[in-house]
Amino acid sequence: MKADIVSIGTELLMGELVDTNSAYLAARLPSIGIELQRITHARDNLDALAEVLRQAWQRSDLVLTTGGLGPTDDDLTREAIASLLGETLYVDPESLERLRETFRRRGASMVQANVKQANLIPSARSIPNDHGTAPGWWVESNGRIIVAMPGPPGEMHPMWESQVQPRLRDRSDGSVILTRSLKTHGLGESAINELIGHLFHLPDVSLGMYAQAQGVQVRLRARAASAEVADRMLSPVEAELRNLLGDNIWGADEDVLEEQVGRELIRRGLTLALMESCTGGLLAHTITQVAGSSDYFLGGIVSYTNEVKAAWGVDPSLIREHGVVSPEVARDMARAGREAMGADIGIGITGVAGPDELEGQPVGTVHMGFSHLWGEHHISRRFPGQRALIKQRAVVQALLELLELLRNNPNFHG
Ligand code: AMP
Ligand code: MG
Repeated sequence: MKADIVSIGTELLMGELVDTNSAYLAARLPSIGIELQRITHARDNLDALAEVLRQAWQRSDLVLTTGGLGPTDDDLTREAIASLLGETLYVDPESLERLRETFRRRGASMVQANVKQANLIPSARSIPNDHGTAPGWWVESNGRIIVAMPGPPGEMHPMWESQVQPRLRDRSDGSVILTRSLKTHGLGESAINELIGHLFHLPDVSLGMYAQAQGVQVRLRARAASAEVADRMLSPVEAELRNLLGDNIWGADEDVLEEQVGRELIRRGLTLALMESCTGGLLAHTITQVAGSSDYFLGGIVSYTNEVKAAWGVDPSLIREHGVVSPEVARDMARAGREAMGADIGIGITGVAGPDELEGQPVGTVHMGFSHLWGEHHISRRFPGQRALIKQRAVVQALLELLELLRNNPNFHG
């Protein structure tokens, strides 16, 4: 089955609202074997919308729409589908009664504009909406399907989960599109391409890659009659990729870097303390995004000025001698933070987030110190990008370095 997604709403084309609905749906189609062909954004204009729908209808067996089901005059999805199929809208008494009941339950009064939310056409069945007033539409005509769902994600997601996805799964031939993502660090896209380029044109498995702050992701994709068969197609290619990329892979699929780090620390009973300068607490924030991080994260000091660094135990003579943005100070921050909190591992970060250089050091220079029960070391980087991105990249790099430190030292235990 081939599908189109049409996200409806002028706000999407004005850049006022990010279209998360299509991403939500696109992520869920492969597991039921549906091949997504195109995502289109359509304005709240009857002719424009009908034209977008007509093109999607010609291209795909299944058209999924979100938005435009509200009671207001600019919500025109039903009207556009009716016009596409040349059918006439009528008020469905059953839907109208359900709508009345919804308003009664809410203690709100139903106005005339809401009546159109009970509209149907002969080819459409209403899909109940347990989280809002707008029912969806399941339309079948000429062997093709249109499913119209409400725009608010809080209404669309449960409707997809409980009603649309199960019905589509019943219709599907059982085939699936299986994907696997390998998350890498330390290599750019072109370097990875050099290593794995020869795998790009395999008959059964398609390969893709894209760069993110956390590094390049390599994605494998196979379509097969069942998940087991697809898995058998993916596995040898995955093994070869793991062989080629080796230690540059830090995780797969849904793995999150800060969660991986947390798991390693818990497994070894180790605790962590931070002293951050240029990242301003972003590393602490990222680490504490993980539920249960209090099991290993003791705390972080944001020591932005030299005085605060010194007050928390950083040796002022190192700052005088080497400058505040230096490997020596990063290492001493790591040690000072660790000792201040009695942690097993300390990380210190000092750098130049920009936009101006500091002490003659160019923007993007970041030194990270690691101090622990078994010794200390540092890494130095020069990150491209602007302030926010430099801070983010420094945080990712610190987490990757910590993960590597732990994985390379199985003897580290609390
Ligand atoms: P609707 O009245 O059905 O057109 O949609 C109303 C609301 O749903 C919008 O104001 C948004 O808050 C939300 N919404 C609509 N389309 C999307 C979309 N593609 N992604 C995320 N939210 C959306
Ligand atoms: Mg709308």
